[in-house]
Amino acid sequence: MERLQSKKVIEDVEDTVSWTETKSGKFSIKSLYVALEAGGSYLFPLSFIWNVLNMQPKISFFAWEATWGKALTLDMVQKRRWALANRCFMCLEKEENINHLFFHCSRTRALWDLLFALFGVSWVLPSSVRETLLSWNGFFLGKNRKKAWRAAPLHISWTVWKERNRLAFKDESLSFQKLKHSFILTFWAEAKLFIDDCPLTIANFIDWLGSK
Ligand SMILES: [Zn+2]
Repeated sequence: MERLQSKKVIEDVEDTVSWTETKSGKFSIKSLYVALEAGGSYLFPLSFIWNVLNMQPKISFFAWEATWGKALTLDMVQKRRWALANRCFMCLEKEENINHLFFHCSRTRALWDLLFALFGVSWVLPSSVRETLLSWNGFFLGKNRKKAWRAAPLHISWTVWKERNRLAFKDESLSFQKLKHSFILTFWAEAKLFIDDCPLTIANFIDWLGSK
């Protein structure tokens, strides 16, 4: 009974409230994001993050957080007035922020280089998570390889974030070979879930990524 009453209230609200940020007056999450930014000129890779087929929700959610600059990298912890040194756990050289961790860090950069080598493409990475996802369409690839290409940035960011947390909280050292293996294995395991005729061995998967 309570549920029926709640449903009725929601319907009444929908009948009487008009969302001014869309022409139809209907609310959408995308229009909310646009409205949150002054001038409405903000571009957010919303559909990219949530529409990558069969992506685990925790990976999509992390990408969403990272794109909004909400992931708790050391610079964000410092902004919360915690007094601690800021040094990237991956390279131990530069200060950590989200764009360093995912694009400029020498360790992460090698994962991107590996990805481009697997697909046989040359690519200049934009400098931020948001710009990268907005420009990441894979139009130059066939249908199935395009699906794998579109899933790749989320896998790289998730692999790097897991490794970063392992180094930060378990006081262990980085094994670069393990990091590369971990990325390729999870990339292949996920690809098998949403790509028709995905190769069933890791060696064939690597050959297939580079095929024309
Ligand atoms: Zn680094």
